[in-house]
Amino acid sequence: MKNNILKYSKVLGIFSVALITISSLTGCNDSSDSKSESIKPEPTNTSKGKFIPIYEPATNAENRVEENLWRSRKLLEGYTEEMNDFVNIPNDIKVVAKECKEANAFYDSDKNTIELCYELGVEERKMFTEEGDSGVNLENELYQSAVGTLFHEAGHALIAELDLKITGREEDVADQLAAYILTYNDEDKDYLITVADTYGLAAQRATSLDDLPFYDSHSLDAQRATNFLCYVYGSDMKGFQNLIDDGVLNKERAVDCEHEYQQIVDAWDFLLGPYFKNQSKNNIS
Ligand SMILES: [Zn+2]
Repeated sequence: MKNNILKYSKVLGIFSVALITISSLTGCNDSSDSKSESIKPEPTNTSKGKFIPIYEPATNAENRVEENLWRSRKLLEGYTEEMNDFVNIPNDIKVVAKECKEANAFYDSDKNTIELCYELGVEERKMFTEEGDSGVNLENELYQSAVGTLFHEAGHALIAELDLKITGREEDVADQLAAYILTYNDEDKDYLITVADTYGLAAQRATSLDDLPFYDSHSLDAQRATNFLCYVYGSDMKGFQNLIDDGVLNKERAVDCEHEYQQIVDAWDFLLGPYFKNQSKNNIS
């Protein structure tokens, strides 16, 4: 079963297959509170809401560099267009690029706002630069990283706004939405590989067990990296056999990845089915 998502590649496809990172290496904070009495998704025709792009001006030079990059790549415009073509939502959700005084991204259910901090771009620019990346390649990485973060935040936003019922940790589920979206097209799957690479790099920063935030609502960076590898492998085992051959994805984990991936696709198809903008694409069986 193919998942039901519009082709994000029409936005992302301007780049050659390069690195993408979902970033949020420190993870996002989520203030959503989606308690409700309903127990199953109900069809809705509501489409009053829209995702609305907003860039707030940066006030310092470092942040302004990221603002200029995101504006020039039409990051928020592309993202909101895709989300608006994808699902019906009852209320507007602002997608705001802004200074936050921390390197992070958020979904705030009280304000119905996704916030993407320029500081996150600054932090990732430093990280990629330390890896030796520069020029257009670096900018592509930063752009794609921000896109990945936005899809993760979309997971939080949709869970709250549509009152979706989930099991498991919401941070993991939000990662799964990003995987669901970025595996729709073959060309986008390489983005997930890069997301995994980035989390893998981030995981290497830890030098002792004391550095690992076991308490955190997010899975550990190394786990998130492995999950993304597993999902992309599960979406096309033959195409990504190299992940096994090269020892990038653990063989024992890989055994169940196709099943894991299909569970994610089936679940998001089911959860979002009533809200898909184009019901003719609904593949729910
Ligand atoms: Zn999150």
